[in-house]
Amino acid sequence: MKKRKFKTEVAELLDLIIHSLYSHKEIFLRELISNASDALDKLKYKVLVDPEFKDFAYTPRIDISFEDKVLVISDNGVGMSQEELADDLGTIARSGTKNFLKNLDAEHKKDSALIGQFGVGFYSAFMVASKVEVISRSAGSDEAHMWSSTGKGTFTLQEAERESQGTTIKLYLNSEGEEYANRWTLERLIKRYSDHIAFPIFLTYDQDEYGEKGEVTGTSVKVEQVNSAAALWARSKSELTAEDYNEFYKNTTYDSEDPLLYIHTQAEGVNNYTTLFYIPSKAPYDLYHSDYQPGVKLYVKRVYITDDEKELLPTYLRFVRGVIDSEDLPLNVSREILQQNRVMSNIRSASVKKILSELQKIAEQNPELYSKIVEQFNRPLKEGLYSDYANRDTLLSLVRFKSSEVEGFTSLKEYKERMKEDQKTIYYLAGGTEETIRRSPLLEGYKNRGIEVLFMIDDIDDLVIPSIGTFEELPLKAINKAGAVDELADDKKEEGAEAHQVVEKIKKALAERVKDVVISTRLVDAPAVVVVEEHDMTVQMQQILKAMGQGDLPETTPILEVNLENEIVKKIAASEDESFIEDLSHVLLDQALLNEGVMLKDPGDFVKRLNSLLAR
Ligand code: ADP
Repeated sequence: MKKRKFKTEVAELLDLIIHSLYSHKEIFLRELISNASDALDKLKYKVLVDPEFKDFAYTPRIDISFEDKVLVISDNGVGMSQEELADDLGTIARSGTKNFLKNLDAEHKKDSALIGQFGVGFYSAFMVASKVEVISRSAGSDEAHMWSSTGKGTFTLQEAERESQGTTIKLYLNSEGEEYANRWTLERLIKRYSDHIAFPIFLTYDQDEYGEKGEVTGTSVKVEQVNSAAALWARSKSELTAEDYNEFYKNTTYDSEDPLLYIHTQAEGVNNYTTLFYIPSKAPYDLYHSDYQPGVKLYVKRVYITDDEKELLPTYLRFVRGVIDSEDLPLNVSREILQQNRVMSNIRSASVKKILSELQKIAEQNPELYSKIVEQFNRPLKEGLYSDYANRDTLLSLVRFKSSEVEGFTSLKEYKERMKEDQKTIYYLAGGTEETIRRSPLLEGYKNRGIEVLFMIDDIDDLVIPSIGTFEELPLKAINKAGAVDELADDKKEEGAEAHQVVEKIKKALAERVKDVVISTRLVDAPAVVVVEEHDMTVQMQQILKAMGQGDLPETTPILEVNLENEIVKKIAASEDESFIEDLSHVLLDQALLNEGVMLKDPGDFVKRLNSLLAR
């Protein structure tokens, strides 16, 4: 017998699981059944693709039984060798889970709902057991081994007996786990969490036998299949209820809430495949992590192939959960094959079309539901505008924006319907938060003319929106870019000599800090505002990219737009004192930058000039 230590992360995880999932301790059963099912999947796959296993005969099943306070879960799946027992049960297999747990702060560690979203795996057994024994025999081997641990930092390995391939897990239930040695409790839990498991789960229990007068005459052993054991997506749509779909979703994703939407497609024809997609009610925690866990699993003829293939759907649809099951792909499909395979690419593009068109339908028919989708997934859909040119028009109808004229979100179509008769441009303001955008002085002139401006408040808008170009032939223009003022130019005031003089004074004072100084046709109260040239990056975008470490970008120099009606600008016009003009001009530029949420490069200079002005 060999005694070994857990890797440190296991000890940590154990502690975390035991303390944070305590109120959900029943999930241990779901985890162990799910492992058994995985092991059966692996063996099924092996038999289909590995010539050595060609004639391997077995009938896949999972068995659950109990006696006194020992609960036994066993499967005749692929099993584990001695090394696998030591390695797989000695470390945390799923790296995503591990990283996630590492990054959780203390406060969230107590949030069991969050942790419940993950498969916490085998170790959850220690919530209900004081000792766990795992007896396993790898398929194709004659040897069996037993792994045993009390979950306190070490485990032992020794030789053991097992009749055929597979794994038996014995839980020596502690006082917290006693309640699970019960037929009704087990039946209820299996139905709730594991009904969708595609292999039969049998429960063995003792049943009393009664005599004619109702007296107990003895007991007999019963073995009963508890789950329905059919892949849900392969069943006919007419057989299934919304509840069936939702339960399947919750049991396979560990989300405790119903999905917003399910889309079940059984396609026959050139390609034969089934897809079942879900839109979750909340964005997955790792939506914006580059190492996100893909949400769609691939099956071939009901045989599980992978849950770790990011190419099944485009990246921007990474929030979609579900299953793709193809009849036409080869079982031993590799990642390389998948990426170039015609069948797969057909399924993929049909799936994207299907998902987007369902979303479109909802947007039209069920605005309340659609607004929930927007709240969670507007940003990833915007990413699609950038990356999925083929579906650009559909995506344009799906994305939503905040606006100067309406509460909540609006679509481009609705904007167009509200447009003034002679308006030929869709105006937007990008960069910064909704708060900074709302207080931008640039909006004043548009507001006064009754022209609506869309607010681009997602960090990717600055990249994505310019790539749209036009919507139904209307160009989109950023009002903080110099090109956008054209349409307001008709009521542009005549620029007299005096105006020209003021511009020259400010230009001279600011020198290299601005590309140009221009007279505003749209500011009402504010003294000045910064804009950039059509193809320059906005000042906010520059700030974001800098913060992301792209330090050596070429600087954009802003254009300062000044309001001749404003008192400060009038003071500049009236003054001949050069140092006064200089202070005022710099403060004018700096306050305009601050108003856009931009950090000043030289705050000391700003404060000095401001103080000198205040002191006058
Ligand atoms: P996960 O299931 O997320 O990989 P677990 O901690 O539940 O993490 O299991 C760790 C590993 O142990 C699994 O990946 C698998 O290789 C192995 N394992 C667990 N249970 C079984 C089983 N019943 N049969 C075969 N292998 C198993």
